[in-house]
Amino acid sequence: MSITGRFMKNCSMDNPTCVVCGKQIGVRFYLCSVCEKTWGRRKRDWPEWLRFLVNDEKKERMRELRGYYDREISFSDYPEIDNMASTDVM
Ligand SMILES: [Zn+2]
Repeated sequence: MSITGRFMKNCSMDNPTCVVCGKQIGVRFYLCSVCEKTWGRRKRDWPEWLRFLVNDEKKERMRELRGYYDREISFSDYPEIDNMASTDVM
């Protein structure tokens, strides 16, 4: 299993949910497809409260990500993870 695969398995981040309705979604997403249709894909189109929720969720995910890796490896050794960490919302 790859390092990313191990990470996904061991971390609670493997069960992310839509910040609006709580439906289970993929780890790279913050809104489910229904809410994305309602609010749009782009951060700048979102109301303030939605940006807040997403930022909060993003911080939480990054915190888990860092906690898992800090002692062992550098983010830069794994471009896939690094990419995920540095991607702006959406
Ligand atoms: Zn939703």
